[in-house]
Amino acid sequence: MTIDDQNNLPDDINPAENLAAITDDISAALREAGKEQNHVTIVAVSKQHEAARILPVLETGHRVFGENRVQEAQAKWPSLIEKYPDTELRLIGPLQTNKVKEAVALFDVIESVDRIKLAKALAKEFEKQDKRLKLFVQVNTGEEEQKSGIAPNDVVTFVDECRDQLGLTIEGLMCIPPAADDPAPHFALLAKLAKDCGVSALSMGMSGDYSIAAQLGATHVRVGSAIFGPRPAK
Ligand SMILES: *Cc1c(COP(=O)(O)O)cnc(C)c1O
Repeated sequence: MTIDDQNNLPDDINPAENLAAITDDISAALREAGKEQNHVTIVAVSKQHEAARILPVLETGHRVFGENRVQEAQAKWPSLIEKYPDTELRLIGPLQTNKVKEAVALFDVIESVDRIKLAKALAKEFEKQDKRLKLFVQVNTGEEEQKSGIAPNDVVTFVDECRDQLGLTIEGLMCIPPAADDPAPHFALLAKLAKDCGVSALSMGMSGDYSIAAQLGATHVRVGSAIFGPRPAK
């Protein structure tokens, strides 16, 4: 293995091939579960990877990408989006209210709506920019103290508040299960909560568990290292 000296990453990783293999894995998993008709969108998580590594994936025709930091995305995405205007950029990391303006300007979807203060700031900014993003509510399925997200018991009320009081359209729910847990019960819980609040999209599953997430009803899986390889050490 040789090292790409620009970013200290192995240069024998082929993101386009990896993406194709993941697509096949998901098809096989859906077939096994008798859910061939389901469509699962792969959100290619390009955080910490530079534009040069993202470009080959755009060149394959893939258009859905996830980033977890507004500032980092602002630095590398505008030029890529100029070249590929039909890109869908999704924010999957925590959003501070002082970054809402920039986030609304750059992203198409925010998957990490996790508190009413943020929902209010988004509603206000949508008016200002006359631009409405698709929104997902992040659910803290493991009720971990250090993790953001709405507690499972509060999700229905929170989604109703976003809809009725703020006029927001909530498209789906998102979760990041505790790293040490079997993810399946968390995915099943997220699917149940989505039914309870009448939303249809489910963003769940990452590099290690996208197949099981697909079998449990994911409409979006967020896959980083299985596509792009390890993230550069900081
Ligand atoms: C980084 C990240 C991912 C992708 O993780 P991998 O294990 O590299 O696939 C998915 N979701 C969120 C919220 C992330 O921050």
